[in-house]
Formats: sequence, structure tokens, C-alpha cells
Amino acid sequence: MSHNAESTAFRSALEVIRAVEPRVADAISAELADQRESLKLIASENYASPATLLAMGNWFSDKYAEGTVGRRFYAGCQNVDTVESLAAEHAKELFGAAHAYAQPHSGIDANLVAFWAILADRVESPALKKAQVRQVNDLTEADWFALRRELGNQRMLGMSLDAGGHLTHGFRPNISGKMFDQRSYGTDPTTGLIDYDRVAEAAREFRPLILVAGYSAYPRKVNFRIMREIADSVGATFMVDMAHFAGLVAGKVFTGDFDPVPHAHIVTTTTHKSLRGPRGGLVLCGPELADQVDRGCPMVLGGPLPHVMAAKAVALAEARRPDFADYARRIVDNAQALADGLLRRGATLVTGGTDNHLVLIDVSGYGLTGRQAEQALLDSGIVTNRNAVPQDPNGAWYTSGIRIGTPALTTRGLGATEMDATAELIHTVLTQTTAGTGPDGAPSKAKYVLDPATAESVGKQAADLLTPFPLYPEVDLT
Ligand code: PLP
Repeated sequence: MSHNAESTAFRSALEVIRAVEPRVADAISAELADQRESLKLIASENYASPATLLAMGNWFSDKYAEGTVGRRFYAGCQNVDTVESLAAEHAKELFGAAHAYAQPHSGIDANLVAFWAILADRVESPALKKAQVRQVNDLTEADWFALRRELGNQRMLGMSLDAGGHLTHGFRPNISGKMFDQRSYGTDPTTGLIDYDRVAEAAREFRPLILVAGYSAYPRKVNFRIMREIADSVGATFMVDMAHFAGLVAGKVFTGDFDPVPHAHIVTTTTHKSLRGPRGGLVLCGPELADQVDRGCPMVLGGPLPHVMAAKAVALAEARRPDFADYARRIVDNAQALADGLLRRGATLVTGGTDNHLVLIDVSGYGLTGRQAEQALLDSGIVTNRNAVPQDPNGAWYTSGIRIGTPALTTRGLGATEMDATAELIHTVLTQTTAGTGPDGAPSKAKYVLDPATAESVGKQAADLLTPFPLYPEVDLT
């Protein structure tokens, strides 16, 4: 039994929870055990520090704090002001932004805040202005009608889903696709890379109010200087959603043309992916949009989560330390080592490699769908997720791709040697798995055949790979 502060803190917390609902305490312990055992290659996940996790479990959760720092609609928010200011200050320093808004509960919420701020800034609508200044109840039926008509006419140009864009960049299943008239830019069918001339052409034809850059599954850098020039050429507001690669911006791996902050009018992010913070979002912008952004709650957000803002302040303080830059560099080195290992073994990668934290394998060369590959890998102790590839013939459900990312394994300390071993394990599973058939003997996009002995052997090797790199070594729950 370890007596360090982290072990004592988590053990005591579990003891207190166990006294009320033991099944929750058990599930929390089981989650740690599961995470410790799995080779986590989910590109959007990470492991936050014990300090970040602990900053969330406290009485800040009890406090309502609608409004902004120093201007709250509730009394007694002085301590919330402290943590919200700290989170915003750290974010501003870290990313070199003029303004930071730390309240969004998630990346999707951060995008909604940004959309509303841009609309309020750009659309000449008395009804919208009224709504923005907390007079929603004063809107007449005619106001609402005018508002819907004016908003419905606004246009957004973002990266297509199958090229790696995100649902919130104007796609139908998300409110952004209902709010905006949307068009998307894809990638070059030969290289898989963004073709900036095509983006410029689409912008000229479509003349969007908002040009969005950013992605969930594009394995390359984006030139934000060129994207800003395109936005300026058509009078669009340039928004970057850096949810996936914020850690690489914070760690100064993406600088110059590849750092979105100096080029975009507004930048949104999550805090829990490569940035390694709590689950949440942030918005960064210049002074022009700051007032509108700060109206995020209650315009589109529920009351702020002060306990999560406290954890954001802790995680952002960690990201400002010099060793975070080393961490960010290693994320990319690991992704490149993984990509190289896969390519050497014959895999097909979208764009032929990576220069960020993620790799997208086209598994059609193995005769599999993404769904089959994802499950076969999971059976073998390797956690990934299926993802569409550009012009995917299998659509967004079955897909033809597997997305893998290195932020989590890099946090554990795995390096290039382990990435090559991981490539070997993935290659073994994908070459040993065959597509299965349905009950009627017809080819299935979901069923697959993998010898359980192979899955077990790979699972054992994956576990061995992790043994020298314990997760949360400072936390001993025994
Ligand atoms: N934006 C991008 C680019 C993302 O990849 C994601 C999540 O995967 C989000 C936004 C949404 O983040 P959240 O799940 O925190 O709402």
C-alpha cells in the first residue's frame, strides 16, 4: 500500500463514495483497471493528471455562476471568479490569444458559442441583437420568424466529414447543419491532402459567412495563413476548431502558418484530447468578438461548471511547463513511428503518413471494413475506432478506416520502439482477420473471423508492451 498524496486522495475518495453507493465506487476502480490494461490508441482520448482529476471532485460543483468574471447573475461567486480567471489567463498566455472564454462544457458547446458570436457580430438583425442581450422573452412571433429567416440564409464552408471534418462544421445530424446552409471542401483524391486552390474556388462560388478549418481525422498539418487569405478574399469569418491538435499548438509543434491562433478570427477547442485536461471546451478570439463570446452562457450554454474550470486552470498550468513541449513533440514522433511501422508492413495510410497525432489506416486492402477491423483489434486488446476514409464506399457506419492516435500512449511514456511493436500487433490482427458472412451466407460488413488464439496472443503481447509504462503509477488503490 502506497502512502503518497495521490494514493491517499483517491483511496479516501473511493471509501467515502463506497459508503453511499458501493457500485459506483466499484465502477470507478474497475475503470482505472480497464484503462491500465488497454492499449489505448483512440486519437481523441488521453489521461489527465491526478491534479487535474482531483480539481474536479469538490464543492465548486455546487455553485451556480451564470455570467462572466466580476459580472455574475448569482451572489457569492468570488472563488469561481478566481478559477475562471486563472483558466482564461493560462489559456491566453499558452496560446498567445487576446481573449479566452473558459466556460464551454465541451468542444461542441465551444463551437456553438463561436457560431452565435459570429452571427451576432456579422448579421444585421434586430431580432438577433435582442436575443443576444438576454431579451429572449421579449421576442415577438414576428421577431422569431425574422430570426429564423435571417439565420437560415447564412452559409458555412467546412471540411467534409469523409475528409476528416467534424459533424459540428455544418452537417445535417448536428444543429450546425440545420442553422446554416452548408457546403464542404474535401481533399485531393490522389494525395489525400487539402487542395487550397479548390477551397478558394469553393469559397468564391459559395461566399460563406464562416470558413471553418479543423478536423477529427485528417492526419496532416493545415496551413492556416492560406486559409485566412481565402476567408479574407470573400469576406468570411475564419474559424478554426483545434479540438484535436490543441496540445500540438500548446507544445509549439505547430507554429507559424500552422498555428491557428494568429490567423483565425476565432478558435475553439476541447481541453481533453491532446491538451490532456478535463473534459471541456475553450474559445479564443480577438477583442472584436470577445463580448459576444462571453455571452455564451446562457445564450447557448447551461450554467458554467466551476469544478471543471478549476481543472482546466490546473491542466493549462501544466501545459505551460517546458516539459509539455517535449510531450507534444513525442506525440508526433510516436505517430510518425507508428505510421512508418505500418507502412513498412504494407498498410495503406490516408495521405501516406502523418504530421500530427493521428494515423488513418485504409483497411480495405486487408479485405475488411472499419467495423470488422475495429472489433478484431478490440478482441486483441487494442482500442481504436473506425472512421470513414475519403470517398468511403462503406459510409459512416461501417467505414473503411481505422483511426489511431498517440496522445494517450505518449502520456504513459511509450516511445518509438513500442510504436513499431504496436504496428506489428495491428498488422498481425488485420492480416489474420477475414470478413465473415451473415446467417444467409451473404458477405457481412460487420461479421469477421479471427482465431481466438491469435487474439489472445496479441492481447498478451499488448499487455506486455504496457507493463514497463504503468498508468497513474502514483495511484495505488490497494
Ligand atoms: N470538434 C472536433 C474537431 C472534434 O473532433 C470533437 C470531438 O471529437 C468535437 C469538436 C466535440 O468535442 P466534445 O465531444 O467535447 O463536444
